[in-house]
Amino acid sequence: MVVGEDCFMLLPQTKLDRLLGDRTAKAFARHLGLVTVADLLQHYPRRYAVRGDLTPIAEVPIGEPVTVVAEIVDFKERRMSGKTSHLLEVRITDGSAFLTLTFFNQAWRQKDLKPGSRGLFAGKIGAFNGRLQLAHPEYELFDDEVDSAEAARWALQPIPIYPAASSVTTWAIGRAMGVVLDTLPALVDELPAEVVASEGLLALDDAMRKIHQPALAHDWQSARDTLRFHEAFVLQAALIRRKAELSHVTTDVRAVAADGLLAGFDASLPFELTAGQRSVGNEILEDLASGHPMNRLLQGEVGSGKTLVALRAMLAVAESGGQSAMIAPTEVLAAQHLASIRRTLGDDLAARLGVTLLTGSQNTADRKRALLQIVSGKAQLVVGTHALLADKVEFYDLAMVVIDEQHRFGVEQRETLRQKGRTAPHVLTMTATPIPRTLAVSVFGDLDISTLTELPAGRQAITSHVVQLSQPSLIARTWSRVAEEVAKGHQVFVVCPRISESEDEAEAPLELDADDDLFAVAADAGNSGLAIDANAAPKPRRPLAAVETMVEALRSNPVLAGLAIEPMHGALASELKNETMARFVAGEINVLVSTTVIEVGVDVPNATLMVVLDADRFGVSQLHQLRGRVGRGGNAGLCLLMTAAESGSLALERVRAVADTLDGFKLSEIDLELRGEGDVLGASQSGVRSSLRLLRVLRDADLIVRARELADNLLTADPTLEKHPNLAEVLTNLDAARQENLSKG
Ligand code: ADP
Ligand code: MG
Repeated sequence: MVVGEDCFMLLPQTKLDRLLGDRTAKAFARHLGLVTVADLLQHYPRRYAVRGDLTPIAEVPIGEPVTVVAEIVDFKERRMSGKTSHLLEVRITDGSAFLTLTFFNQAWRQKDLKPGSRGLFAGKIGAFNGRLQLAHPEYELFDDEVDSAEAARWALQPIPIYPAASSVTTWAIGRAMGVVLDTLPALVDELPAEVVASEGLLALDDAMRKIHQPALAHDWQSARDTLRFHEAFVLQAALIRRKAELSHVTTDVRAVAADGLLAGFDASLPFELTAGQRSVGNEILEDLASGHPMNRLLQGEVGSGKTLVALRAMLAVAESGGQSAMIAPTEVLAAQHLASIRRTLGDDLAARLGVTLLTGSQNTADRKRALLQIVSGKAQLVVGTHALLADKVEFYDLAMVVIDEQHRFGVEQRETLRQKGRTAPHVLTMTATPIPRTLAVSVFGDLDISTLTELPAGRQAITSHVVQLSQPSLIARTWSRVAEEVAKGHQVFVVCPRISESEDEAEAPLELDADDDLFAVAADAGNSGLAIDANAAPKPRRPLAAVETMVEALRSNPVLAGLAIEPMHGALASELKNETMARFVAGEINVLVSTTVIEVGVDVPNATLMVVLDADRFGVSQLHQLRGRVGRGGNAGLCLLMTAAESGSLALERVRAVADTLDGFKLSEIDLELRGEGDVLGASQSGVRSSLRLLRVLRDADLIVRARELADNLLTADPTLEKHPNLAEVLTNLDAARQENLSKG
């Protein structure tokens, strides 16, 4: 963790050992990653418990670490067989259900655990003989010697429940927080006083104390709102400033002529550009001619023709003598882009521009040749993978970088490419996951955003259907449909979530990041924080569909007899991958059984049918992406989403949502709602976004828009932040942390 990385406020960076002692500080660092006072202060409660409200025991999930508020009912002692061992069982209750605490050889705890007392009990819930139990729980009893005047206040006082570790309990965190807050100098607001006043916020110092030590529920609620606003405002100020900085950087002017390379190419196209392609193209030409580096995000519906927009931009750059590099997330996609660019340009033009491929798996000779072409400037148009980021790759005059499929790419990588130019190169980022505009502005607020909404004329709609495993006749129909499609001369994708059946569960594409939502539910009223994540797909009892198994199964399916059915996945040798892809493109393979390697970008116009197995294992946007691989060539596309998800389940609902709408923007909203933006956008997309604690882009969209407006006003009135030194300092810290992250690679 980089010092200052997550500091959206001016908080002391004092090391915790000075305040908490070595041992505690070490435990906090090791188990929770908290090193400084700033880290600890921003370790916000996940939720709040109230002494008066007992935790519903029936809802407590088995196998999860939990903290419950409960009352002790009674206890029972048992001598175990060997006479030496002693078992103490203590029953606690929420008033309806019971939970048993068990202690071995700790008879002395009886004195502690008196019936009628209430307290916090923490541990992992197990089930034993049909009873819920907590073995050797940590606990802290409420002090019940309060006089009656105090009692009401005491019963209502919220107790923060922190994200904890088994060796660092929530009350240990609470105590440490107390120590830190007692000696904490008054915090100063980085927010301008006018903003604090106009938004009705608490002072930062007040908010920080109240989120950790609220007297009433209202305290932490307003504290949380205030701290959320701090995050939103500072994030937006940072993005706006970053964008402004780029507008001060100068770079070569890249202008195109009315009868130049680009014009000639346009004239040779066998189709008309869509209105969107034309207008976005013009925006890009203006950027290139502006003398300042472009930093543009191009988002567009699947199949809207983003690659062509990028190619035209690359031609404009080539016309001005510069090089451009297009970087794709996978080798398959890089090879595809290369092939389709060559095809679109035609052999002559492709040769003239020295269209060159650079990937990690090339043999040494090819690679040497490519590097030479690139450094000499002969390669004006380079297509590649991450390999393009390597230090060894030097460009003669890198003028533009195109990043395909943004969601696989972090801000750091964008920056690495940027540093390869002689002058600051233009950056065009394309994303296949459309993001609703307000969100895009708030997350990619340092980029200009262009959107392609229409599909090229003549494109056929894709029809999608859900096939439940409980409908055997539909499954049989699916495979005969595959045969029919091939008989018509078309091709089919069959997509599986796994490569082989033995593959580790952990590699499931939809594996949720357990930590990600820790803070999402932080301090959310009404959220118990105890419920099992409702979004997690149910663990299937049968193995998930795997490419290797499926290839065999389909080859031996009589309905598909005689068809060329081949596997495709990331673990294949890259030569085999390229060869397989080439054979599929050439129509030699009828059915490609694949993992999500084909998710992005792959363009095989003759493919008309896609069958997705265990569709509920994929994200909503991911399914939309996958489906975009069919129906690209003027033939109607069909997508069959097979799933074992049961009727009424959330998993089925997600798959249905995909079948029911073709609008990628709408689906990305659904996806965001169901999965949380961390999963959809990727944590590293914005250098600062990943350190957000309380803010959630979707839920807080209005707040973010408001914060952006205020930050914009402020920076317009005071661009150098002369009158706002505290804010300036926070932003400087953030930038420094970002630079440090970048230089670490
Ligand atoms: P995506 O936006 O999903 O990356 P692509 O760039 O792969 O879409 O384009 C999809 C297909 O549409 C390609 O085969 C491409 O050649 C074709 N295409 C692009 N623009 C047009 C257009 N204006 N008219 C017809 N076809 C087009
Ligand atoms: Mg594409």
